[in-house]
Formats: sequence, C-alpha cells, structure tokens
Amino acid sequence: MAELELSRVSKTYGAFNALRDVSLKIGDGEFAVFVGPSGCGKSTLLRLVAGLDPVSEGQIAIGGNDVTTRQAGQRPVAMVFQNYALYPHMSVYDNIAFPLQMERRSRQEIKQEVARAAQVVQLSTRLQDKPAKLSGGQRQRVAIARAIVRKPGIFLMDEPLSNLDAALRMEMRSELTQLHRRLGSTMVYVTHDQLEAMTMADRIVVLNGGKVEQVGAPMELYHNP
Ligand code: ADP
Ligand code: ADP
Repeated sequence: MAELELSRVSKTYGAFNALRDVSLKIGDGEFAVFVGPSGCGKSTLLRLVAGLDPVSEGQIAIGGNDVTTRQAGQRPVAMVFQNYALYPHMSVYDNIAFPLQMERRSRQEIKQEVARAAQVVQLSTRLQDKPAKLSGGQRQRVAIARAIVRKPGIFLMDEPLSNLDAALRMEMRSELTQLHRRLGSTMVYVTHDQLEAMTMADRIVVLNGGKVEQVGAPMELYHNP
C-alpha cells in the first residue's frame, strides 16, 4: 500500500504539452479513476508514474519517497495494459511467474506466489495453457495476476477492460472492485467508460487538455456538474 503524490508535474513532447502542472494526492488504498476525452493525457500520466517515460517538470512521490528519477523497475508499481501484453509463447504459469523470475526469487517461493495469484483471479486450472487458448477476460486476469505477484503498493491500470465485451466488462468490474478490497492497494485506473468510473472509483479525476479539471467522489461529480 502506498500514497501517490504528484507535485506540479508537466510533460511536453516537443512543443506539445501533454500534461500541464498537475498536482494531486491519491491516498493509501484509494481507488482513483482518471477520465477525460481522448488525448487529454491519461495514459501519459500513468506512464510517468510507472517510470516508463520521464517527467519534463515536477516531482512524483510514492509512499513519501521521491521516485521522480527512479527507473521503472525501482518503483513499487505494477501496470496492467489494455492489450494485456502477455508473452504468447509462455504458459499462463510462466507469464505470471515472469516478474518473480526477473527478481531471482526461489523456485519454491515462485510456485507459492503464482498459485496464490492464480487463485485470486480464478485461473488455477489453466496454468499450463498458452494465452491463445484463453478468452479475453481470462487473458486480462493473467495480466492482473502478473501484477499481483509483485505486491505493488500501487496498481496502474490503463483501460484494462476496453477490449472485452459488455457482459465480461460487467463481470470484471465487480472482480476488480473485490480485488481492490481484498488487497487494499492503491489503484490508479484510466478509462473512458463512465460506468466504470461511477461504479469503481472512490474518487474521479477529470483531465482535460493535460490539466486537472475536476476531482471528486462519483456522486459529487455527477450530481453537481
Ligand atoms: P489519453 O490517454 O488521454 O488518450 P495520451 O496520454 O495517450 O492521452 O496522449 C496525450 C497527448 O499527448 C496526445 O495528444 C498524444 O498525441 C500526445 N502524445 C502521447 N505520447 C506522445 C509521444 N510519445 N510523442 C508525441 N506526442 C505524444
Ligand atoms: P522443477 O523444480 O521440477 O524443475 P519448476 O518449478 O522449475 O520445476 O517448474 C518447471 C515448469 O513447470 C514451470 O516453468 C512451469 O511451466 C511448470 N510449473 C511448475 N509449477 C507449476 C504449477 N504449480 N502449476 C502449473 N505449472 C507449473
């Protein structure tokens, strides 16, 4: 678990301002959902927090530690992408185990952690399968399990449900809400789906043109627009 604080963060690509002077605090264990029109800077913000892209100005702190100059692997975050980003030639087991193998954890420990994460996302019987044999929802659950094993303080999720059909999206919405309750970690979640924002968020952050336009609980935002 970890608090996230952005202080006057800006990101420019050439002359273009993708994020402008964003300051925000997301509480330990909070489920924050970022919404806003396409191109408003949602994915950019996640990439900066993940350390996949450097900030142009400002600071990012996680759990009170300044991580602005730390590499992605040195930040207590795990990211789940819209397109799952699984390794197609590896089994479900090996996909989930991958981050632990990178950390050179013991075989026994890896087995335990993979088994636990697979149970959380209900994939215990599919560990030997390759991703191609799974449904879209199952693939996204593998990606979530691969994030869970790292025990990140902060989960970063970039439109994780937008490739799924409506029925699966509904199922996964409640699964993610339960997962969040169970793990108690901080969630930074990007979507363009208002229903996801309304049903899952503790707090919604509306971005527009790279700036924070509004911040509030779902009821506050949608009852007093
Ligand atoms: P969103 O996720 O809200 O749709 P993004 O964060 O992906 O928006 O993009 C914000 C803006 O920054 C867009 O106008 C996009 O074209 C621009 N942008 C994003 N990444 C780059 C990049 N690597 N180089 C140049 N422009 C970029
Ligand atoms: P060994 O100790 O026998 O060499 P490993 O623990 O290294 O075996 O696992 C070898 C491979 O077997 C793994 O890469 C994985 O694909 C598969 N595997 C191991 N444990 C499990 C498990 N509990 N469920 C499914 N597959 C597993």
